[in-house]
Amino acid sequence: MPAAELVIEARWTLPVAPENLVLDGHAVVIGGGRILDLLPATAARARYANLPRKLLPDHALLPGFVNAHTHAAMTLLRGYADDRALATWLADDIWPAERRWLSAEFVEDGARLAAVEMIRGGTTCFADMYFFPGATANVAAETGLRAVVGMVVVEFASAWADTPHDYLQRGLAIRDAYRGHRRVSFGFAPHAPYTVSDATLAQVRVLADELEAPVFMHVHETAEEVAVMGDALRPLARLDGLGLIGPQFVAVHAVHLTPAEIGLLGQRGASVAHCPESNLKLASGVCPVAALRQAGVNVAIGTDGAASNNDLDLLAETRTASLVAKGFSGDPTALPAATALRMATLDGARALGLEATIGSIEPGKAADLIAVSLSAPATQPVHNALSQVVYAASRDQVTDVWVEGTPLLAAGILQTADLAAITERAREWAVRIHGHR
Ligand SMILES: [Zn+2]
Repeated sequence: MPAAELVIEARWTLPVAPENLVLDGHAVVIGGGRILDLLPATAARARYANLPRKLLPDHALLPGFVNAHTHAAMTLLRGYADDRALATWLADDIWPAERRWLSAEFVEDGARLAAVEMIRGGTTCFADMYFFPGATANVAAETGLRAVVGMVVVEFASAWADTPHDYLQRGLAIRDAYRGHRRVSFGFAPHAPYTVSDATLAQVRVLADELEAPVFMHVHETAEEVAVMGDALRPLARLDGLGLIGPQFVAVHAVHLTPAEIGLLGQRGASVAHCPESNLKLASGVCPVAALRQAGVNVAIGTDGAASNNDLDLLAETRTASLVAKGFSGDPTALPAATALRMATLDGARALGLEATIGSIEPGKAADLIAVSLSAPATQPVHNALSQVVYAASRDQVTDVWVEGTPLLAAGILQTADLAAITERAREWAVRIHGHR
């Protein structure tokens, strides 16, 4: 066991496992990037008397948020085209912009902007799907975030790759370069049923099985997508026929589902990455979260890209998920605060195959932690710290963030990224893009 290095004493600790537990006056002891102990603060002061102590007297300490689906670099297209439906938004706005602007530089600058936004909002791990995945991986490595980087594949050529084979080979080469990295791992990211062929999906399935990697894919996002082939062959049935739907599969969005499809996802042990704000903004519909959870489907939460959300605020997304699930089902118990918090942390980790490493405050897990100050008037008085975090706090109240025990945000100050330089680059991109519109 690594040596203890730091005692974090918070007013409230929300371990997430077990769900709904709020510990008062506890301490988390970390060392070697791991959580070593969770015990009453009084006991910690005696047992770890000589260690430095981080005091969080008005704060809730919880596991960092897991953003189960995003396109980090698309922060540079935040607000570029709003108030459209998915199909026209992609065809008329996003794909042309990407054809014009996509480069390693674009992805690196966009992913850096995403990284600082996510760190400041308490996200410690994200699953990404975008072109130039190596640039996103580099940004995660450099900023200290944990990431599951998607090896993206589509049938059409882009600045990143020409053919599906080329996409996969380039993705795998980056994965090889990162082998053994403690925070950066890889999954397969076939974009969607309407952009990836059966032959490519069959290859993805073989590779994912061999490498035991997660596969994340937009599926059943809009009614239009599902209706293309009529009831004869709906996308999920097609993917299941190719053997893709299993415990490694993350169905991103999963809005338009029949009861039989909900049952299938449950039987196969698949996960869903629920992105309620993107679905609402594009008017795609509402994911049936309560029914999915009842069917045994693991449901995680994602923001989707900032071009369709328009932020990467996983705390707000979690609140939206809870409220929408209640309103949609007519049942106020459909998604309680503790369950929503679990979806934003441990269930996200499970979707990405990381549940043994992150997602809860338990000895042995990585010290991926965040502190949320509840001292502001908007979060007073505190009857229940967990409810307060989910239903009342904003991401601006995140004061401290650790990943593998390394501080990425300390008392509100970024530790691993140059905020001014990153913001300046984003401004430059707006000038460049607007000069050519
Ligand atoms: Zn997406």
